[in-house]
Amino acid sequence: MQTKVMPCDEAGIRAAAGLLRCGELVGFPTETVYGLGAAALQPQAVAKIFAAKGRPADNPLIVHIASREMAEPVARFTPLAEKLAARFWPGPLTLVLPRRAVVPDIVTAGLDTVGLRWPSHPAAAAMIAAAGLPVAAPSANRSGRPSPTLARHVLEDLAGRVPLILDAGPVEIGLESTVVDATGALPVLLRPGKITMEELASFCGGCLLPDGKSSERPPAPGMKYRHYAPQGALYLAADYRAAEALRQRLLAADPAPPLMLLSDASANYFRGQGLPEDEILSLGANEAEFAARLFAALREADTRRAGRIICETTKESGLGRAIMNRLAKAAAAATEPGGGVLPSPAAEGKA
Ligand code: AMP
Ligand code: MG
Repeated sequence: MQTKVMPCDEAGIRAAAGLLRCGELVGFPTETVYGLGAAALQPQAVAKIFAAKGRPADNPLIVHIASREMAEPVARFTPLAEKLAARFWPGPLTLVLPRRAVVPDIVTAGLDTVGLRWPSHPAAAAMIAAAGLPVAAPSANRSGRPSPTLARHVLEDLAGRVPLILDAGPVEIGLESTVVDATGALPVLLRPGKITMEELASFCGGCLLPDGKSSERPPAPGMKYRHYAPQGALYLAADYRAAEALRQRLLAADPAPPLMLLSDASANYFRGQGLPEDEILSLGANEAEFAARLFAALREADTRRAGRIICETTKESGLGRAIMNRLAKAAAAATEPGGGVLPSPAAEGKA
């Protein structure tokens, strides 16, 4: 199959909508990451997503809609969901809700709930509206790879496996949506994202965690899988001093220099120490830039065949909670070039 890349103009949107209606796949931009869409109510179309990504069948998909009317046949809205949708949709919040019977099992991995999101990206909204049907879409990467934040990343992973990718340039947020179980009276945070736990708690009068004592819900399905992992071994460091100590330790074991993923301030410190530019990737000056650049940096580490990567971490609240969630998974899943899992790399260099 030839993969076509089109801009998000009228012709691109029309082509994407036509393919979706025919049960084909489309790679498309959202405000979070690029998605891989298929008609959510057509099981054979949805099956193509799992095949193209190599995604395990027990990892449910999020259904994307472009109006409240489109959501009605898919899920039953609880009072909490009504309130959250009114406040945060369209936007980077997925609501897990009781599903309706028309939703195929393949979308929900057989659960009695369905994840629902109304994306704010104009191209995503236009494509879904033009198709006139709900679109099931995970991130448009091969399973286990970092999520795509550029159309080029989608092409890297899925060329020859999808007929069309819509290109709208870099995404805005760079991390997948916040996922909230909205079946109860208070939201349960299943996956942190741009809409933060603090924001949800203050808006709803509380926000639970899946492993919190106040909740007996199991963690979100899919969270157990290998995720976001670069090929090289990933080490986390709390700040530039920890990064420096870690770098020295790694160099003592093997003289090949590790690739350093650093905040602008730390990057400047290491430049001052004479570290060459090709050993540094900048993650920006703040958490929003960090989030937007993280997945591209992990992919760049693979492109450079970095065997060892040191990444500076951030605080674990607000948007930092979402960044640290992805980083911890990437570090835990990172393998040595030879394939062996690293002994608890996430603990390395942490203050
Ligand atoms: P992805 O589309 O790859 O970002 O992954 C979608 C994620 O959304 C899954 O891995 C789950 O964590 C979550 N999710 C989707 N549907 C449900 C559901 N019905 N219940 C709980 N979590 C869900
Ligand atoms: Mg994904």
